[in-house]
Amino acid sequence: MGKTTLDYAKQLDENDELANYRKEFYLLENVIYMDGNSLGLLSRKAEQTLQDLLNAWKKLGIDGWTEGDNPWFYLSEKVGHMMAPLVGGLSEEVIATGSTTTNLHQLVATFYQPSGTKTKILADELNFPSDIYALKSQLVTKGLNPREHLIQVTSRDGRYLDEEDIIAAMTDDVALIVLPAVLYRSGQILNMKKLTAAANERGIPIGFDLCHSIGAIEHHLHDWGVDFAFWCTYKHLNGGPGAVGGLFIHKKHFGIAPGLAGWFGSNKQSQFDMDHTMEPATHAGAYQIGTPHVLSLAPVIGSLAYFQEIGIAKIRQKSLQLTAYFLELVKRELADYQFTIGNPVDDTRGAHILLEHEEAARICKALKVAGVIPDFRTPNGIRLAPVALYNSFEDVWQTVQILKTIMDEKSYEQFENKRGVVA
Ligand SMILES: *Cc1c(COP(=O)(O)O)cnc(C)c1O
Repeated sequence: MGKTTLDYAKQLDENDELANYRKEFYLLENVIYMDGNSLGLLSRKAEQTLQDLLNAWKKLGIDGWTEGDNPWFYLSEKVGHMMAPLVGGLSEEVIATGSTTTNLHQLVATFYQPSGTKTKILADELNFPSDIYALKSQLVTKGLNPREHLIQVTSRDGRYLDEEDIIAAMTDDVALIVLPAVLYRSGQILNMKKLTAAANERGIPIGFDLCHSIGAIEHHLHDWGVDFAFWCTYKHLNGGPGAVGGLFIHKKHFGIAPGLAGWFGSNKQSQFDMDHTMEPATHAGAYQIGTPHVLSLAPVIGSLAYFQEIGIAKIRQKSLQLTAYFLELVKRELADYQFTIGNPVDDTRGAHILLEHEEAARICKALKVAGVIPDFRTPNGIRLAPVALYNSFEDVWQTVQILKTIMDEKSYEQFENKRGVVA
């Protein structure tokens, strides 16, 4: 059977061990959703645990903090335990808290200890802007000029980073390293093990942003010796818009005082002593600040249940199959339309693909009108994420066919080649 036929796609779906999970998600009507790396879809279990939490509030009032199925006082730790296998951390090394950006602030405030000539923060020029804004503002709070003290490793081609270039930049004046695990545009997975070994050797703390990797690929943060990591839960983890994020602190650092302190970082036994001298928790929980956003944490409990049930290895396996199939179809069906594949084609690709095209912004608009949700990444990127838990091989096939029709008919020309407010 020809690989470009619909029957072939259907056969792949029939052989897909995870195909049944699609029914667990609220797919949008008449839409092929290829944007789960920006906002994952709602699942039945996530809806249920949110409903359960509302009921606990309704029935228990303040006693919900310590009673019910998921006492709120211990919920951040519980969700941390659930996320630990996804990052390869020990249970006590992971906590659900904050957001990507606030967690980065917390971790930099904790691990960035400039002294003497060791004052620089090493990052890269391809990272998501919020991370760079946070790093710059942290330098400013220390009275340091970001122009001098933030080093951004450059990309040789505008898409990828070369680990050797990063390692070469780990010089004696670097006090902290912050890098993405998976680049948000090209989907390149950085070799975290290799980078961490190099940083450890030089005694420089290193942390990773897992926004585009958690729930998509395997990690072994503890074994690799990564010092810290942080992430959101609304992308591949399907926790809902603005859901509570997470962070990882390697056990070797337990006991370091949190840079940004607050009472929810306390040892739980003494938190309500109301003493003015804080006694921090002796695990990752120490890096929480204030009262957890329990309503935004509730759906994450249900969503993580799927990851526990399936295991990340199988999810990654299917994701690789989906993107390999996608790339194969792009090569066979879209060869005549000036697309450039902007993601790694080997196994160092994350869970999305990136098609570059000079008309990308309006091709995305035409895709949306035709019922495919991509996202546009400036200046010329069409990001498409077939998600292992709820996208099918047929979704991939349909997407490529729709894209082909748009290119054939040039229907994108009726739109302006400019991004929307939320792209
Ligand atoms: C999604 C994403 C963010 C978003 O940060 P929030 O604090 O959750 O708004 C930050 N960094 C990266 C790399 C991301 O992919």
